[in-house]
Amino acid sequence: MNAKLQLAVIGAGIVGASCALALRRRGHEVVLLDPEPPGSLTSAGNMALIATSHITPFALPGFWKQVPAMLADPLGPLAISWRHMPALVPWLWRLLRASRPAEVVRISAALAAAAAQAEPEWRALLGAHSADALIQREGLLFVYRSAAALAQAAPEQDLRARAGARVSRLGPEELRQMEPALAPDLAGGYFFPDVAHVADPRRVTEAVIAAYLAEGGTLERQAVRAIEIDSVGRPRLCLESGARVFDRAVLAAGIWSPALLRPLGIRVPLESERGYHLMLPDPGVRLGRPVGAGDHRFMMTPLDTGLRLGGTAEFAGIDAPPNWARADRFLEPARRYLPGLRGAGATRWMGHRPSTPDSLAVIGTAPGLKHVICAFGHGHLGLTQGAWTARHVADLVDGAAAPAAFDPARFG
Ligand SMILES: Cc1cc2nc3c(=O)[nH]c(=O)nc-3n(C[C@H](O)[C@H](O)[C@H](O)COP(=O)(O)OP(=O)(O)OC[C@H]3O[C@@H](n4cnc5c(N)ncnc54)[C@H](O)[C@@H]3O)c2cc1C
Repeated sequence: MNAKLQLAVIGAGIVGASCALALRRRGHEVVLLDPEPPGSLTSAGNMALIATSHITPFALPGFWKQVPAMLADPLGPLAISWRHMPALVPWLWRLLRASRPAEVVRISAALAAAAAQAEPEWRALLGAHSADALIQREGLLFVYRSAAALAQAAPEQDLRARAGARVSRLGPEELRQMEPALAPDLAGGYFFPDVAHVADPRRVTEAVIAAYLAEGGTLERQAVRAIEIDSVGRPRLCLESGARVFDRAVLAAGIWSPALLRPLGIRVPLESERGYHLMLPDPGVRLGRPVGAGDHRFMMTPLDTGLRLGGTAEFAGIDAPPNWARADRFLEPARRYLPGLRGAGATRWMGHRPSTPDSLAVIGTAPGLKHVICAFGHGHLGLTQGAWTARHVADLVDGAAAPAAFDPARFG
């Protein structure tokens, strides 16, 4: 292990908070920087899955054939703002390349390796007491209303099984036995028994922060305006309170990370894959586990605070205002899976998945900057991979290599 180092972690979402705690536990002096309350942005509103089932990339071979149908409904599972299209084209081109069969096999292997460690890493980072209070492993169901949607889902679920996920196909009766609140007329579904979910994603970041502060970490509510490099290669952070030099900086600012690298000549293709949720505080029905509304491609997750309906992908850039109709849209189709669902008191949320075109996060030393470490770009899997990422970042600071498939230099 290195001698005790002075470290900065930029961003206190689930990824940065986890990195800060893991580094503090290795004995380093750590300052975690964020102008916002920890875990209050993207990491607050997600669908709460430790999604060990999601071990295939976003784009599968031939995915583009389904795109026109999905885009036909502006409030559907996929939306692209035409105004954002020129900026999006290079990313889409890389997405297409990542959907080639050999790439899908390579990416799935990397995602499966991370998934295998996801829950154990969370349990280690949170400690048994906190982990037992926050994490439940009840599995994940995907249910389908129409036989056509069930049949259309088969190749993707088979691919996940081939990549190593345990999954079984269930008939309507078995679904109803597992989840009595489901509609009686479903066509069937899939069950992933190894998926866990958390009581409330925001509380996970808060638990990590509480441990970090109790163990001597420092949290400062201020933004990093720029990263500069001093004459011996160390990061000099321009903060609201003035400039400060650290031995290493870990960049974990989610979708906002590339903006801090660009002035240093490093370009990482990251897009905001905007997702929405509708939170129902008094849904009137009970689910024992997260359920995917298969025909409509969104999730329904039971949390401590109610039932969360959410998901979908909207490419419109970081700054466009939310289209709240996309969040409101979840309620009516959700009732077709959960008759009797109540929408009173619903609240809406939008967040930015920091998505790379190959669905792999950006973890490792920034190209040409040996004292700046990247830990961002987790797309759909930031909660799943948060603790796993933190272990690799701590190992990297202590001199080990990061997992090659996630190398920030891969984008050329
Ligand atoms: C609808 C939806 C559903 C999802 N469901 C799941 C799921 O079920 N399971 C799963 O694993 N993942 C899920 N995700 C993805 C997951 O939420 C993200 O991958 C994760 O939250 C990203 O965490 P982060 O810490 O990288 O980013 P963030 O949570 O966005 O945190 C980044 C932090 O950086 C700070 N920051 C920005 N700029 C600066 C600066 N200049 N200086 C200092 N700080 C800065 C911000 O204030 C912010 O607090 C979902 C996402 C969405 C949108």
